[in-house]
Amino acid sequence: MKPFTYVRVKTVHEAIYERAKSPEARYIGGGTNLLDLMKMGVETPTHLIDINALPLAKIEELDGGVRIGALVSNTDAANHPLIRERYPVLSEAIVAGASQQLRNMATIGGNLLQRTRCYYFYDPSFTQCNKRQPGTGCAAQSGISRIHAILGESAECIATNPSDMSVALSALDATVQVTGEHGNRSIPIHEFHRLPGRNPEADNTLRPGELITSVDLPAISYAKRSHYLKVRDRASYAFALVSVAAIIDLDEKATIREARIALGGVAHKPWRANKAEKALLGHEMKPERLRMAAEQELKAARPQRDNAFKIELAKRTMIRALMTAAKQEAA
Ligand code: SF4
Repeated sequence: MKPFTYVRVKTVHEAIYERAKSPEARYIGGGTNLLDLMKMGVETPTHLIDINALPLAKIEELDGGVRIGALVSNTDAANHPLIRERYPVLSEAIVAGASQQLRNMATIGGNLLQRTRCYYFYDPSFTQCNKRQPGTGCAAQSGISRIHAILGESAECIATNPSDMSVALSALDATVQVTGEHGNRSIPIHEFHRLPGRNPEADNTLRPGELITSVDLPAISYAKRSHYLKVRDRASYAFALVSVAAIIDLDEKATIREARIALGGVAHKPWRANKAEKALLGHEMKPERLRMAAEQELKAARPQRDNAFKIELAKRTMIRALMTAAKQEAA
């Protein structure tokens, strides 16, 4: 690990000031991803700004919805009564995401910033990785691509986003609140993570030095009727091959009034299934209709050498998640 300096800050203002002094600095909260990356030599910050003392660890009601502070631990978010009762899909996704020990350390802000688990990104002995070193190529495209993207990939990068929590936040239309040298911004979750395009080194749309302060969840009257389903290679903690966050609003005749569906493990960002959602509106919850909606969404999928199985897996996972969500009590 390369040497670095360390400072613990007490105010948001101090954090922003410290970061502005050094472009190579990083904020550190739980450190569950950053420290791994530093040990591997993938991240080499010259200065660490410890933000754990900032007053950003509260969960509170806000305009009928809920605000989760960026430093709330994954455990506290998953277990909080407001989240369990109003947004169970988020609670399920966080619990599916990591072991209890990791959830105790990991923060909500850090979870949003997790970097891809592409094998070639994590191992600097592979010199070809456009995400780690722009312009060097992409080893995954001629290598092992089982865990890689089938949607929204580019010629430069086929990595996937590893966060389960972000998939649920996508289905919930969360908003990420950030602050920086030039003031505060609200970023809709769909604009927070990005597709790789020609510059896969950027995972998200944060500007240099910006700090996540909270994640806001809107009021959704039917959010209890939801389910998070994660399919992985082994039953204990592993990253998703495919996951689905599904929230569904049904009328008394089981006709779909609204559906919110997001997929994980398939793209560089949580993939909101807009086409499938549209195909379900006004239809009965019948397996044929769900299948048709899933087919619509996956039409654009382009598999890599080792992951064509993800296309059918994504369709079946979507159908099962929706069926399970529909069985939950609406309120
Ligand atoms: Fe790097 Fe992306 Fe290619 Fe993986 S898929 S090797 S992260 S450029």
